[in-house]
Amino acid sequence: MTKRKKLIAANWKMYPAPVALGAPVQGKPSMEALKAYRGTPEVDAIVFPTFLDIPKVLKAGLIVGAQYGHPEESGAHTGDVSMKMVKDAGCTHVLCGHSERRKDHGETNTFVAAQVLSALKNDLHPILCIGETWEEKKAGHSKKVVQEQLDIVLRALPSHDSPLTIAYEPVWAISGGDATKPAASAAEAEEMHAFIRELLKASRHAEPFDKLRTGFVEARILYGGSMKPENAEELLRQPNIDGGLVGGASLDPVKFQKIVETAAKHS
Ligand code: PEP
Repeated sequence: MTKRKKLIAANWKMYPAPVALGAPVQGKPSMEALKAYRGTPEVDAIVFPTFLDIPKVLKAGLIVGAQYGHPEESGAHTGDVSMKMVKDAGCTHVLCGHSERRKDHGETNTFVAAQVLSALKNDLHPILCIGETWEEKKAGHSKKVVQEQLDIVLRALPSHDSPLTIAYEPVWAISGGDATKPAASAAEAEEMHAFIRELLKASRHAEPFDKLRTGFVEARILYGGSMKPENAEELLRQPNIDGGLVGGASLDPVKFQKIVETAAKHS
């Protein structure tokens, strides 16, 4: 069995960068805080800041992704930024279909698939976010929803070596979780990750995941939804959980560093 290197990604959402980037703070370089986001030899780390912070985070020497990119190269889309622009700005990765974008901006599965294709065309590594709502879970539709979100993208992939990372993010577990259901248990998450891995293997695109440019044999499947130092150990030791997409806890460099260190133990 191949070991996939862990990846911990920081999604800073619409928050200011939690560390001083570049300029020294009160005479002291901010290197110590930045260290948390650099990853380690065992763990890759990527930061997803706001568009406005992308240049500063790049200048600080971190690996940077965008939280969104419009599939069209340019056009009359006020307020949007295209995948091409994201690439030209120096990003290497992009989130596609984060549940907050699906909800706030009406992104459909078809639109998200177009984003993934555009990301690949522009030489960006897409991180496809999928996951069910609490209502869908209660109705017993979790796997059906996740399969639909994934299938449309897998069917559209252009070639057998398209790079792709999946982030399974149950919507009900994000930002501290639903009042009735705080966060996914490691067992719940692992069950869905194993299911996603089976879907990847079963798809006609199973081959491409053996040839990722990152050199790993299979696509990495990240868990997202209130990952924090307290639950990271349990989640990251699951065989099909290859890392995390971390929102709230990534805004605290100390917490983020702890999650990276935990991932290193399981890499
Ligand atoms: C996210 O934004 O992708 C996320 C998982 O957020 P949080 O860790 O705050 O639940």
